[in-house]
Parts: sequence; structure tokens; C-alpha cells
Amino acid sequence: MSSERYVIAGATLADGTGTDLLVESGRIADVGSGLSAAGATVIDANGLIALPGLVDLHTHLREPGYEQSETVLTGSQAAAAGGFTAVFAMANTSPVADTAGVVEQVLSLGQSAGYVTVRPIGAVTVGLAGERLAELGAMANSRAHVRVFSDDGQCVSDPLLMRRALEYVKAFDGVIAQHAQEPRLTVGAQMNEGALSGELGLTGWPAVAEESIIARDVLLAEHVGSRLHVCHVSTAGSVDVIRWAKSRGIAVTAEVTPHHLLLTEELVASYDSRYKVNPPLRRREDVEALRQGLADGTIDIVATDHAPHPVEAKDCEWDAAANGMVGLESALSVVHASVVQNGLLEWADVARVLSHTPAQIGRLTGHGGPLVAGAAAQFTLYDPSATREFGTGDLTGKGINSPYLAMTLPGRVVATFHNGYPTVLDGVVQAPDTVAERAAARAVSIRG
Ligand SMILES: [Zn+2]
Repeated sequence: MSSERYVIAGATLADGTGTDLLVESGRIADVGSGLSAAGATVIDANGLIALPGLVDLHTHLREPGYEQSETVLTGSQAAAAGGFTAVFAMANTSPVADTAGVVEQVLSLGQSAGYVTVRPIGAVTVGLAGERLAELGAMANSRAHVRVFSDDGQCVSDPLLMRRALEYVKAFDGVIAQHAQEPRLTVGAQMNEGALSGELGLTGWPAVAEESIIARDVLLAEHVGSRLHVCHVSTAGSVDVIRWAKSRGIAVTAEVTPHHLLLTEELVASYDSRYKVNPPLRRREDVEALRQGLADGTIDIVATDHAPHPVEAKDCEWDAAANGMVGLESALSVVHASVVQNGLLEWADVARVLSHTPAQIGRLTGHGGPLVAGAAAQFTLYDPSATREFGTGDLTGKGINSPYLAMTLPGRVVATFHNGYPTVLDGVVQAPDTVAERAAARAVSIRG
């Protein structure tokens, strides 16, 4: 095994200060200028921003059951390539992650892969069927220590079940992450409802299908005094509802995806199924409202909704194509392009929305904190001056269903460190056996 010590020389922290970082035994041992240590590998970080390792609260790793789309290993590699050090794995696998057994399986797969910390999300209802509550307590008390529960892909549309779920998770400080989509208002929906859907002759997906569920759920969360998290907010009206709920002191948090910060419904006119996603791409004014909501704190975090699919699930007619886009590898560049280049967010805000707050919402310790002496060494080195034409070569996971192929995006992840060892160096994802060996050596146990 190569050196366990690293000096990251001349990095710029999220707040703009320049520093070296000494990494030793999984921790940031020292921060300051002119650092050196015997036998340390020196990484020249001049011109690079050192961000706390990114944390994705919304990732589809597809394993168990859909390994042709992604595995915990390949999804973890995609995450590392994107600068992530932790991901929360959605429950819509096969079998569904609705028991302690399945969430512990996902946890173990993540630990042995070693690229990122994988925290399983538990299903809210058995089989995502929306009929009765899953074993929330058993998953919370399992080795996987589940704190986030979601039927994502499906909405918990029954208000009584939603109320019971919100009540139940209070006992262990859990949170319900809702996929807000009133199913009765979106039967057969193919794209955002509006003038363009009429023109294209595609069944519309009205904004109110999302907004009405969010309005109901924030009131339920207020009524029972529990925590609600809203997945992938996509409309201006949703931002208004969440802003109102926060002004009332309701414990609601919300996420926006990189693609909803950058792309609009006009892309659907190409009938290129890479642009088919749930919730759908919306209007320019929605994108503007989402950016403003992220900038003013109404929307708390950016989460990828990384949704890999095999080629055949996308390479078909628009109506038949699967919803979803891969997003881990491109997330930081898309956030850079959509809200940093125009001055809405500073890099310190990026650290907050892509690392600190998602870790907090998911009650994940050891991630998301500032890069100070004594902290666990989770960080990414990002080159903000780079530009690249995004291509399949930039995709490390199994899915190539990226909407950004052939687009020019700013920035590049140069290195990622997870628990003090590199998962990406010089822009190259490190070999699985090397990473697994280091992960085993570190054998970090998860704690509350
Ligand atoms: Zn969803």
C-alpha cells in the first residue's frame, strides 16, 4: 500500500482562504501554510478549490435487483468521480429496501466497495405499494442506522399513511422524503403541462400535481410536529409553498436537482429521451424561481436524483422511454454553470448545499463539516478554471443517459478523498481493489 500521508499543497478553501492540508490516518491532521511530513505524498492543489466531500441525499444505486442499470460499486465510482464522499441510496430496488435485511445488504456492499459512504434510505411503505407502513423502526435500529425514509419513484399519496409515517419517525429523529406527485393528476403524463405540451401533443404533467402534495405535507408535518423533506422541487409554485411553510416555522427541507437548475422543457421538442425525467423539465420561469429559492435558502440542498438506465430503456419512443438521468458525475459542474457563474452562490454556499446541509438532513456524521484539523478527511479538489465538452468518457457509472453529453461544462473534479484515502487522483477514479483494500484497512464504523 502506498503512503498513508498526503500533503495537499496550496489549495483554496470554500471561503477563499489559501492553505495546505495534511492528511493522516483518515483525518485532516493539520491545516496551515508550509506543511510537510516525512514520507508524505504531495499533491499540488494550486488553483484548486478544496470542498468538503459532497453528500448526495438522493441517489439510485439500483442494487439489489437492477444491476444491469447500476451496482453499488459502479454508482459509488460515479459518485467519487463527481466529488462525492457519501450518498444516500434510494429504496426502489428489487427487493425494495423495506426491511432491515435489505438496508444492511446495501450498507455492506457500500462498505466493501469503499469509494463513498453509502447510507441506505428505507421505504416508507411495504414494497412501495402505498398500502401499509414498512418496518421503519427495524430499519432505524439496524446496522444501517436508517434515518431517511422515502418511497421515491412513488408518492405517498394516502394522507393517513403519510401522517402515520411522519408520526412514527419522530421517535428516532427520522425524516420522510416525499416524491411529491399526486398520481391522479399525472396519469399518462409525459412532460410539463403548458403551451408546449399542447403543441407537441404530449399529455401534460401539471405543476399543481407537485404543489398540492407539498402543501398537504407541510401542513401534516406541522400538525404532527415532524420533519419533512421534499425531493426534487421543480416548480415556482412549489418554491412559494415551501417559503410560506418555512415562514411558519414548519420543519421542512427541500432539494432541487442540477438538471432542474439548468434545463428547460423546450428540450423535449427534440423527443430525445435523455430529457425525459420525473418530475419533468419545466419552464424558464420555474428554473429562475428554483435558482432564487436555492440562493435565498428556501431550497436547502442540491441532490442529484442520479437515475441510471440501460440503453434499451431510453433508446425508444418518447412515450415508452424510462424517466431519469444520470447526474453524479456532472452535478458539481452543472451547479457551477447554473448558480455560481452568475453569482447567485459562492463556493461556501456550494459547500453548504452540496455537503453540509444534506449530511445534516440525513443525520450523517463525519461528513459535511469544514476542513479543519481533526475532521475526518472527506474532501474534493475541484478545478474551477477548467472547461470540458462533457462526454461518455466522463461517465463512470453504468448509465450513459446524461442530458449533458456534448455540452460544454465548466470545472473538473481533480481528486476526491474518502476517509483519508484517494478515490480519485488526477481526475482518474482509482482501481476497485486498491480502494477496497484501503477501505478495509480503515474499517470505519458508522455512528449515530
Ligand atoms: Zn423521485
